[in-house]
Amino acid sequence: MPELPLTGACLCGAVRFEVSEPLLRAGYCHCTRCQRRTGTAASPQARVAPGSLRVTEGEAEIRAHVPERGFEKLFCSRCGSALWSRDPDDHDVLSVRLGAFDGDPGVRPSYRQFTAYAAPWEPLPDDGLPRYPERRPPSTG
Ligand SMILES: [Zn+2]
Ligand SMILES: [Zn+2]
Repeated sequence: MPELPLTGACLCGAVRFEVSEPLLRAGYCHCTRCQRRTGTAASPQARVAPGSLRVTEGEAEIRAHVPERGFEKLFCSRCGSALWSRDPDDHDVLSVRLGAFDGDPGVRPSYRQFTAYAAPWEPLPDDGLPRYPERRPPSTG
């Protein structure tokens, strides 16, 4: 396991954060929102233990895209880096983009969700990870 706290930042460095507890799980999200906001085929992201993420610098630079339904998407207003998404009803429920961490986050993606919407230009890799056409069912732990 990597040493805690885990640290991370946006591309320009205005926003810095730390995570004080081990990440709960990680997965790839292939939904069209994640494709748009990251410009990639899928967003690898990790769920944090509730209350374990703290913004250490640049809180004022963080903006949120708030869709009508679903998780809010937070990003750095200076450089546009996608940082994390959060439950609009419980701001302690957060999934951080794995690429935002400075070092090894200590978890590996273990599933793929929203694969029904996967980008046509990048085939799903044959990596043996469970695939969920829609959101990963909560019953899977
Ligand atoms: Zn930035
Ligand atoms: Zn998504």
